[in-house]
Amino acid sequence: MGQPLVVRDVETLREKLAAARERGLRVGLVPTMGALHDGHLALVREARRRAQLVVVTIFVNPTQFGPNEDFTRYPRTLEADVARCAGEGVDLIFAPSDPSVLYPPGEETRLRVSTTSQHLEGAFRPTHFEGVATICAKLFLVAGPSVAVFGRKDYQQLRVVSRMARDLFLPVEIVPCPTQREADGLARSSRNVYLSADDRAKARAIPTGLAAAVRAFEAGERHVDALLARVRAPIEAVATSIDYVALANADSVVPFPAGSMIDDRAVLAVAVRFGSTRLIDNVVLGEERGPADVVAG
Ligand code: AMP
Repeated sequence: MGQPLVVRDVETLREKLAAARERGLRVGLVPTMGALHDGHLALVREARRRAQLVVVTIFVNPTQFGPNEDFTRYPRTLEADVARCAGEGVDLIFAPSDPSVLYPPGEETRLRVSTTSQHLEGAFRPTHFEGVATICAKLFLVAGPSVAVFGRKDYQQLRVVSRMARDLFLPVEIVPCPTQREADGLARSSRNVYLSADDRAKARAIPTGLAAAVRAFEAGERHVDALLARVRAPIEAVATSIDYVALANADSVVPFPAGSMIDDRAVLAVAVRFGSTRLIDNVVLGEERGPADVVAG
């Protein structure tokens, strides 16, 4: 397989992709922050199935990090990422040489997706989805993809980006890809490398809790409090702290209130800290079994 072309600036990206579209090729985009793992590669394969020219973007987007988050220490592994992309037959990598390539001096435009961004992650990371929506809109506008693939691992992000693309009439299909997991069920994440061996072992409580709730749901449980208790029990026993464990409408990501019953489809999402590492995971009840396919009950 050939080496992907690595592009570092917007003008060259525009030129190359305009030429490809003129040749009748469908462009498939996979936006990432790099430190690529097998979860990202599943997205690349999905893009390959749906497009003739696959573009991976590698950009640690500053606007989606809060002031006290891990922007500066986020893993940056471009050389290894290029090699992994080469192995998957990626055609082009867009890896801006500097944040100013996408945020030139003086730029000030931000996109806000109101309701979908408000709860769960949005409540703990108030500017996060504004950064996500803005960078995705920029990438869609400069790359002009027919399809863009996003992981269900970041479920609320998937919903925010889908909403934004629809609201702005952007001619791009947003394609979801199932969450890829380690052998014990932990969702693959670039941030898993921050975990100590001890915390890595404890983190399996996340898929264990989600799987317990999936089984309760499959057995007919619909009470919010009962389902949340299933998730919380194993996690509370080992986590440093829990930001949230929530059940929400799977489209709007608005939480079901305590004491209520869920519909036949709902997203069950968690954000948990082990030491200073914050991990997120989710499963859409009524739609997928998620970690219950991996974790024994
Ligand atoms: P990131 O590099 O963390 O910003 O993620 C880039 C894309 O990869 C996003 O669409 C994520 O949802 C997706 N992704 C990250 N981890 C996983 C995973 N374990 N399974 C599926 N998709 C993932």
